[in-house]
Amino acid sequence: MEPTHKKLRINRERFKQDFDELAQIGATADGGVHRPSLSPAHLEARAWFRQRIEQAGLVFRMDGAGNHSAFLRCGPRGAATLLLGSHLDSVRHGGRFDGPLGVLAALETLRVVNESGLALPVNFEAIDFTDEEGTLVGLLGSSALAGTLEKSVLQSPRGGRERLEAGLERSGLTEDGFFTVRRDPDTLAGYLELHIEQGRRLAASGTQIGVVHNIVGGNSYRLTFIGRADHAGTVGMEERRDAAQGACEFTLAVRQLLTEDFPGCVANVGDMAFDPGAFNIVPGRVAVSLEFRAPDVYLFDELERALLEVAASLAEQRDLKLNVEWLGKWDPAPMSPIVQNAITEAADSLNLKHMTLNSGAGHDAQSLAPLCPAGMIFVPSVDGASHSAREFTHWQDCVNGANVLLRAALRLAAER
Ligand SMILES: [Zn+2]
Repeated sequence: MEPTHKKLRINRERFKQDFDELAQIGATADGGVHRPSLSPAHLEARAWFRQRIEQAGLVFRMDGAGNHSAFLRCGPRGAATLLLGSHLDSVRHGGRFDGPLGVLAALETLRVVNESGLALPVNFEAIDFTDEEGTLVGLLGSSALAGTLEKSVLQSPRGGRERLEAGLERSGLTEDGFFTVRRDPDTLAGYLELHIEQGRRLAASGTQIGVVHNIVGGNSYRLTFIGRADHAGTVGMEERRDAAQGACEFTLAVRQLLTEDFPGCVANVGDMAFDPGAFNIVPGRVAVSLEFRAPDVYLFDELERALLEVAASLAEQRDLKLNVEWLGKWDPAPMSPIVQNAITEAADSLNLKHMTLNSGAGHDAQSLAPLCPAGMIFVPSVDGASHSAREFTHWQDCVNGANVLLRAALRLAAER
């Protein structure tokens, strides 16, 4: 006879009812949700989650970073915990699937395991991390849990200090609280997250399950091309030291460099600020916002070097100065081969077609990867749309993903 864990499935109707109820909280007229971290709508979603946890007979826990958890003691006292999770906050005017899908599938997994009465070597925890999306800081709850959050980040959060203070006040959290929640890696059996792909690869290839093998690293710079502001009518074209020429040539060169020499990597010039910025003044300074992402550390470093070299050489050719300001980076996070294997086997057991891919977007799993075996399951996004009300995943795909989460979690638990 097959072991019970190879036959369990999530309750499709209960999972859908949860999803639809949650999507009403912070709902926007165009079918999306607006639940920036620690906003009233986000806190309402968390209160709803807490109620669902308690209704299911699971133990509710909240830590000093505001992370909300459902806890199921299915293992011996003092056993390590297998974390399953994602986030209930959204970007401003985001979609219904990004985050909640993973949290609700985690909750459903705990309910199914609880109802099955299985005794496992580990305990299960379904976690909703605070501020994954970065409307305040980004990966705030998961980096606090990993013990990698830095105090300075809370002093100048990317969402603005005032907004962070208002959110803490609203939710009853304190800054000090974030530094009390670090988990000892010995207490963690692993981390698993179900998420929508937010890209087109799964849908385009007719694949139901993505097995993430890596979350790409990202790096950002502000590059300022500095020439000389001059009268745009009286100074001849040959005499100008026009900062815009360097900035624009660089923007075009970035695309060429990436497509020719760095397949699998991406780079974006997302903003340009002209100074003084007038019809009749030759631009004296142009500041370029550059962000780039790469799947492994070697390519990440090579790409950084190549981009900065191109910028320097184009500036020199145009007789411009280049000011280089580094703004910060996160490293690529490889997912655990053990977890990838558990996901692949779970997908096979459900006869689902799967493929291995990178995540181009950041996720809480990258905070957990240095601590414990971590992995992610992706399901197809229609048209690759995300961070938008257009975000959509067919319900059957959501159910497939939740079943893979359940079975992969049981496989990881059994392997302990
Ligand atoms: Zn997300």
